Amino acid sequence: MIKHLSILGSTGSIGVNALRIAKHLKEEIKIQYLTANTNFNLLIQQTKLFKPKSICIVDDIFYKKIKTELNTNDVELLVGREGLLEISRRKDVDIMLNGLVGAAGMEPTLSALNSGINVALANKESLVMAGALIKESMKKTGAKIFPVDSEHSAIWQCLVGENFEDIQRIILTGSGGPFRLRNLNTFDDISIEEALKHPNWDMGRKITIDSATMMNKCLEVIEAHWLFELKPEKIDIVIHPQSIIHSMVEFKDGSIKAQMGVPDMKVPIQYALTYPSHLQSSWKKLDFINCVDLTFHGPDYERFPSLKLAFKALSLSGSASAALNLANDYSVNKFLNHEIIFTDIFNINESVIDNHPWVQHPQLDDLHDLNMWVKDYVAKF
Ligand code: MG
Repeated sequence: MIKHLSILGSTGSIGVNALRIAKHLKEEIKIQYLTANTNFNLLIQQTKLFKPKSICIVDDIFYKKIKTELNTNDVELLVGREGLLEISRRKDVDIMLNGLVGAAGMEPTLSALNSGINVALANKESLVMAGALIKESMKKTGAKIFPVDSEHSAIWQCLVGENFEDIQRIILTGSGGPFRLRNLNTFDDISIEEALKHPNWDMGRKITIDSATMMNKCLEVIEAHWLFELKPEKIDIVIHPQSIIHSMVEFKDGSIKAQMGVPDMKVPIQYALTYPSHLQSSWKKLDFINCVDLTFHGPDYERFPSLKLAFKALSLSGSASAALNLANDYSVNKFLNHEIIFTDIFNINESVIDNHPWVQHPQLDDLHDLNMWVKDYVAKF
């Protein structure tokens, strides 16, 4: 049966890969909605190729450009944040792929789940910001989250057919990023260009910086906590520089399942879109005979103090994870704008966790208020 799909963030790294898959699987996937933030040229091209029902350009200064380029008798053109939220509420899709960046992805995830729509979630920030609200919404409507994050997709695949009670722990693997072996005394000098060079994965800018600070792994621990309903002590991190094992589950009898493959985001994206099937794909497969050696070691908390923030935020509970996530969105932006140095990202993030006005059960309004508080706090840093 053909699956109807909406893609939020269709011109970003996740969206572009998803459309490559949709092109390859045109018998299985029909594109209903596309949204983009600013890249109107690519959105126009995608619209001509995939003929969605509606599209949304979030930045309204590009609205006129699209309107003159496209025949809006064929496609409905929505605009702004309101248009994005409108698309995330629409019920005539089977799956909404959320490929948005940062905390801005949280509300669309919630509105899709509230509408009973399953969400293929690449925006891990949704769960870090509002894990409790999201779980509540899923319980209410029965809608599900299909993880797109490669580690969480790996764990999801390892858990097919297993009993939750049998899990001893999950092991999130991380490549260690580009600075795994760099002299710690030179971390203050890390440039934007150096931080944007990931050794294994080709991803968007924000997540690539998060991989360099290892904040990405920190956010993934919190994401896994909500997604698989696991206590923090059941979540471990292992550094695996080759990124061939995407994560593992250890069961109580000591048996371990690992999910492996080439580091290519198209694999977890396709699985989330075609679950429970593993359909034929056209990309490069893992070659065991010519594969590099697989190595593992423990996380280096001195080099990457961000890793500790996940466990700190989870033990503080309440709004701590949301505050951490917001702090990181703003501090990464500040780093990319040459306003702070690399190591300040951690300093800001930790300072926000410690000083933010903590709330035990944050609702959407509280999260909006928190966003304003963090934005202001980070701006003054
Ligand atoms: Mg990941």
